[in-house]
Amino acid sequence: MQITIGSSILEIVQGDITRQDTEAIANAANARLAGGGGVDGAIHRAGGPAIMAACRKIGGCPTGHAVLTTGGNLKAKYVIHAVGPVYRGGGKGEAGLLKSAYLSCLKIVSEKGIKSIAFPSISTGVYGYPLEEGSRIALTTCRDYLSEYPEIEWVRFVLFGETNYRAYEKTLKALQREYA
Ligand code: ADP
Repeated sequence: MQITIGSSILEIVQGDITRQDTEAIANAANARLAGGGGVDGAIHRAGGPAIMAACRKIGGCPTGHAVLTTGGNLKAKYVIHAVGPVYRGGGKGEAGLLKSAYLSCLKIVSEKGIKSIAFPSISTGVYGYPLEEGSRIALTTCRDYLSEYPEIEWVRFVLFGETNYRAYEKTLKALQREYA
């Protein structure tokens, strides 16, 4: 499913982010950029050692921020490693930090003149962020950014599995109704 925001597209698909042909893909990284399980492990496996070498050089990234590396062997030229919050009940600034993680990626995309990016659902795996609220933050942050910065042509969320896809679909449909 997709919606248009001006001339840009905000899309959700079910699939594997490592196989996307967008110019950049985002990673749900940890603050040490040390690699891990989940989507982070999948990206390093598929992209090869050049990505970890670049992460080591950078050294780390605070929660709510993002850094750019090569895409290594991936189709995507760049990986933008975003560090979302660990969910600790919602009273520890998690919503603001999650929004900030997405925004940091989008700012890098703008600065680099990147036209298309794919995102995973940051923080809603091992980091425990509730999926429905996480999807709302993810999609509204991107919608609002695209309406202000039309030079980004394509933002795609790549959701792993049916449950994640359905949650994002429900949120995007609600946004579409608000927007219409
Ligand atoms: P976090 O630690 O930020 O919660 P995870 O990697 O545990 O990150 O999970 C984030 C999301 O990424 C989850 O919804 C998980 O299902 C999803 N995911 C795992 N592997 C992939 C993949 N290859 N492509 C897209 N999403 C993936």
